Amino acid sequence: MALPEDLESLIKAHGPSGREDEVRDVIAEMLKPLVDEVYIDSLGNLIGVRYGSGELKIMVEAHMDEVGIVVRYVDDDGWIWFDRVGGIHERSLLGQRMTILTDLGPVKGVVGLKGRHLLTEEEARRAVSVKEMWIDIGARSRAEAEDMGVKIGDLGTFEKRIHRLKDLVCAPSIDDRSGCLVLLEALRRLRGLDASIYAVFAVMEEVGCRGALTAAYGIDPDVAIVVDTTYGEDPATDVRETPTRIGGGPGVRVLEASWRWAPLGHTVPRRLLNLIVDAAEEGGIPYQREVVTFSATDASTLHLARAGIPTGEILVARRYSHSPVEVASLSDIEDAARLVAASVERLDAEWRPGHRRIK
Ligand SMILES: [Zn+2]
Repeated sequence: MALPEDLESLIKAHGPSGREDEVRDVIAEMLKPLVDEVYIDSLGNLIGVRYGSGELKIMVEAHMDEVGIVVRYVDDDGWIWFDRVGGIHERSLLGQRMTILTDLGPVKGVVGLKGRHLLTEEEARRAVSVKEMWIDIGARSRAEAEDMGVKIGDLGTFEKRIHRLKDLVCAPSIDDRSGCLVLLEALRRLRGLDASIYAVFAVMEEVGCRGALTAAYGIDPDVAIVVDTTYGEDPATDVRETPTRIGGGPGVRVLEASWRWAPLGHTVPRRLLNLIVDAAEEGGIPYQREVVTFSATDASTLHLARAGIPTGEILVARRYSHSPVEVASLSDIEDAARLVAASVERLDAEWRPGHRRIK
């Protein structure tokens, strides 16, 4: 599995929600040799199709966007005031290196913070709001910042630094570039199917699972599998809430719900859940059943497209969600690809809607 190089290219490509052009170009090059046709739909989703001889249409999906920031204001002194795009924890921003994507090219900056010696005790104890943070790009005036290309509405991301922690990979945007790699790797493994496969690399998941919904409407698949990241263990999490372990194989989600940010949710149809579990068990692929009640994926909107689309969920565990140091296991990515391929191979004409008529 040519994993580290491909994963590195995927992670290094910028793609904050709403500006996915750079990462889309990178994925398109990887996708072309694996499918019959590649196209971009109206919202910007990248879709690769491998046509089969049969009628069944299977959609496999991962989002290609990532959390980021947006420039709200450039002040007279050249400081950049910004807000978040997607669910970044404010604490994850302090002192971080950022890249702002301008029309003149990427501009590097750092999120400034008031020095500890200058804080009152009360200030030191208090959480810092993103409204109090600025990005320092080295400009000394608004004119200098504008000369560098920075303007209101420019999007940015964490700087793309990749580390290896033993056999784990640590980088921003593992969510969901690992899922994008899983789709590509699953396509490499899948050969000679009767079904047509639509591999969708969706836009704008991090701002409300938008692209997957319209892609599914356009494709009108009979069945879908979403690949995203999930929550791996760390010393601050409760195993009763997030039982999925890094290195333990892909998460097989049964149910997800998120009421805190938006009324999103999805319950995997039992028939499809069982198919995925059987594929794992008979293929000797490790997997972990999981339920998440504080977050949602593209499955939460995708399954509502058209007259409803049975949707499964296969996930890669990662720590430190939406931070510059997300951590995941390469073996989980590989096992997720194996499980996506093994599940797709089990889908047959019985999944066409006409076969479900009650006699
Ligand atoms: Zn994600």
